[in-house]
Amino acid sequence: MYRSHHCGELRISDVEKEITLSGWVQKSRDLGGMTFVDLRDRYGITQLVFNMDDNEQLCSEARKLGREFVVNCSGIVRERSNKNPNRDTGDIEIEVTSLNILNASQTPPFTIENDTDGGDELRMKYRYLDIRRKPIQENLIFRSKLALETRKYLDGQGFIEIETPFLIKSTPEGARDFVVPSRLNPNEFYALPQSPQTFKQILMVAGMDKYFQIVKCFRDEDLRADRQPEFTQIDCEMSFVTIEDILQTFEGLTKHLFSSMKNIKLSEFPRMSYDDALALYGSDKPDLRFGMEFHELGDLAQGKGFSVFDSAESVIGIVAPGIADSYSNKDMKKLTEWVQRPQIGAKGLVYVKLQEDGSIKSTVGKFFDDEALRTWAERMGAAKGDVILILCGETEKTRKQLGELRLEMGRNLGLMKDGDFKPLWVIDFPLLEWDEETERFHAMHHPFTSPKQEDMDKMLSGDHATMKSLRADAYDLVINGSEIGGGSIRIHDRALQSKNFDLLGFTKEEAEAQFGFLMGSFEYGAPPHGGIAFGFDRLNAVMNGQSSIRDFIAFPKNNQGRDMMIDAPSPVDNQQLDDLHLSMIPKD
Ligand code: ASP
Repeated sequence: MYRSHHCGELRISDVEKEITLSGWVQKSRDLGGMTFVDLRDRYGITQLVFNMDDNEQLCSEARKLGREFVVNCSGIVRERSNKNPNRDTGDIEIEVTSLNILNASQTPPFTIENDTDGGDELRMKYRYLDIRRKPIQENLIFRSKLALETRKYLDGQGFIEIETPFLIKSTPEGARDFVVPSRLNPNEFYALPQSPQTFKQILMVAGMDKYFQIVKCFRDEDLRADRQPEFTQIDCEMSFVTIEDILQTFEGLTKHLFSSMKNIKLSEFPRMSYDDALALYGSDKPDLRFGMEFHELGDLAQGKGFSVFDSAESVIGIVAPGIADSYSNKDMKKLTEWVQRPQIGAKGLVYVKLQEDGSIKSTVGKFFDDEALRTWAERMGAAKGDVILILCGETEKTRKQLGELRLEMGRNLGLMKDGDFKPLWVIDFPLLEWDEETERFHAMHHPFTSPKQEDMDKMLSGDHATMKSLRADAYDLVINGSEIGGGSIRIHDRALQSKNFDLLGFTKEEAEAQFGFLMGSFEYGAPPHGGIAFGFDRLNAVMNGQSSIRDFIAFPKNNQGRDMMIDAPSPVDNQQLDDLHLSMIPKD
């Protein structure tokens, strides 16, 4: 028998029991007459004791145990004289009577404890050792339970989990496809799904009514820190629904997940239009754990002879509360340099300090007297002790820069509190986005998204000038500044879908070749439908207040999209290339 209990199980009530445990050696301490070994498994750590006086041979065997050796032992549960309140098994220890080494281990390349000295790449290369660490195990266990709770909730709402294929044809979600050559069809390729978008819509045409899937998606993007080429979505679609039905259903799912997983009761999610989000926070995914909304100051600050303001399209400010006296000139200089970094790109920072003693100090004091500055403060609701921070320039850029500065101030002032969760629905996204580089429209969400009913005629008119103003029935769920999910009401009419492809620059032939199957299905009784997908990896990270999704993925890839453990991608042999009709690839 390998074990009668696991390593996190034994308590004071088990004292005097004869037990058997198996696990890994976390640590051993040799105190001369006594040797202590911490034995670890997924469930916890139990202390083993070997006493030289009782059994010399056993004790000397124990001394030979190295870190991460796999052992099996039997013994008697004893009460510890020196209890460890930080451990569930801290009241007891095992007086070992027999010890069996099941496998030896090399010295691990990093410490396998809650805090490790291993760098990211090393941890990914030896992921099996990294996963032995409690924080990673806890993340994976959390993830497993989150998937289970998702299934429970959606099942309760009548959703059916349906698998869709991985070897498909391109689905445009705005990234490149990973392609897979077909051996049986020379020079033809499958694409791995960027999402099951077209299949879930087809399932609605097929009458399945409510679909979901916890599913891998693949996007060949340049990898930013928090992106993975393969990631998981909670993907959903519903028939005969309005936006309201979808927001209610997935607000319900989110509330259920927070209450079942974290015992947090979220109240009703606020909603904000895309335009308001940009005007108030400079971002379509604002972090609402703190305020610091934007205030337009153009009408107060322009035309008063300060040319930097006068030549700007927008002058916008935020109020950083309570720092007038604590932020020195040096701090303000640092902040100015921060906004001037190329990543932010502001030309400069104007500030107005409303000092505690009632005086005002400002970088633009030469151009604006105290009375003028006080009207700004009044507009912005700024009080004594606050600092007004102002950026100006082209509206879109300025909003973005000020949005970054707002977040930086939120971080600096500790306003983004762990354990505080502020969900938000961002709605009324634009349908199309103009791409300066390619000089064409892109779908802001994806090409299957429906324009708002009231913009339908405008869209059908095809007048390019008005296209930028088209609004979509699209929405995002944002929590604490992270986009958790997004979706839309779909087009279910062939002519409208075809018009949309038109606007996006597809020729009729291209649209037919790529999406003929979907448009074809619309001719056989497609119901009105809509859906959403949640980024499952990110949801895990955000619910745990962590910024990286990597530690919630058992085997993540690095920033170059490499799996460091199995060393993929890697070359394949010539025969394999020949079989796939890819022999034209130069061989070395
Ligand atoms: N397929 C979309 C995505 O992956 C989600 C949706 O529209 O349902 O973002």
